[in-house]
Amino acid sequence: MAQIVIKNVRKEFGDFVAVKESSFTIEDGEFFMLLGPSGCGKTTTLRMIAGLELPTSGEIYLDGEEISQRPPSQRDIAFVFQMFALYPHMNVYKNLSYPLVSQGMPRAAVREKVEDVARILGIRDILKKPVGGLSGGDRQRVALGRAIVRDPKAFMMDEPLGALDAEFREHMAEELRALHDRMGATTVYVTHDQLEAMQMGDKIVVMNNSVVEQFGTPQEIYDKPATMFVADFIGSPSMNFLAFEGTVAEGAQRIEMQGQSMTVPRQHQGASGQLIFGVRPEHVTLSDAGAYRGEVRATEYLGTTQIITLDTPNGELKARVPAGQIATVGEKIGLGFKGEAVTLFDDTSGRALR
Ligand code: ATP
Repeated sequence: MAQIVIKNVRKEFGDFVAVKESSFTIEDGEFFMLLGPSGCGKTTTLRMIAGLELPTSGEIYLDGEEISQRPPSQRDIAFVFQMFALYPHMNVYKNLSYPLVSQGMPRAAVREKVEDVARILGIRDILKKPVGGLSGGDRQRVALGRAIVRDPKAFMMDEPLGALDAEFREHMAEELRALHDRMGATTVYVTHDQLEAMQMGDKIVVMNNSVVEQFGTPQEIYDKPATMFVADFIGSPSMNFLAFEGTVAEGAQRIEMQGQSMTVPRQHQGASGQLIFGVRPEHVTLSDAGAYRGEVRATEYLGTTQIITLDTPNGELKARVPAGQIATVGEKIGLGFKGEAVTLFDDTSGRALR
């Protein structure tokens, strides 16, 4: 059982601020993703939870106890290093039993525990094999097993599948998620891959430039991005941004863009100035009607859908439409937007208007 609370945590390395004041809660049993581009501070955050770095300020709580200044050995958190970091000269059994033997656990108890874990991971038949000769998948299972045997309160994983090719990576991701669902242990997982985060995570923290941009479920992050960075980083192709200058009238649920009236669902009333109209490609519709038009620049066939790239009076726009819909390069097509799916952003701050 482990709930982890991050409260105003900050980390400086000399003059450099790797993590600015960050706060979020990881609930017991969650598969929790730290997502963001290279260098944004996700590994540093993970290492602070595990105790491999100490925060400059702020607090970390594990099940209500403040642990931020404790050494790793007193946190009961397992850090799963890159999954291939095993002892190559030892067999699988020795690799798995090592953490327990070094804790001074009696032999019989060690054997029982190792066999238990080997059963969970489906690696009982390779316990006597040296790890040097194992397949990638089996090595990965053994590395996981070495973290699991200690029964830690939580697992920290830093891009564990990063070194694998795409197909195998997807397979291991599924296996890892299934294992988590069987064991139910709190897991914090670092990745820069938005698709992996969306597919595997119960919750996601999106970081950029040492700052937490947003924290929520995959659906919240996809449907209600808090910033343009999040809207752009999540989803492929990413959200369209159409710049316009205008005012959303008090009491109105529509905006004027290039003389055309667009529906805006949420409470954007009173917003004015340089605004950004954000809409995902799948929420754009193409039709002969419609006064707001775009010229087709390119089409990309994807099987069941196609991506149409258009030039509009407010900039480039991508639409994801059924593959059968006819769109010819050079043609001018009317554009519609599913109003409830539109997000307006402030152009200066990049924040969504709420
Ligand atoms: P990546 O995916 O590339 O590992 P990340 O989001 O995990 O990126 P961090 O590893 O947390 O990023 O690093 C954040 C920033 O802090 C980087 O600019 C990095 O160079 C810097 N940094 C990390 N550790 C140290 C350190 N020990 N001393 C100085 N700077 C550091």
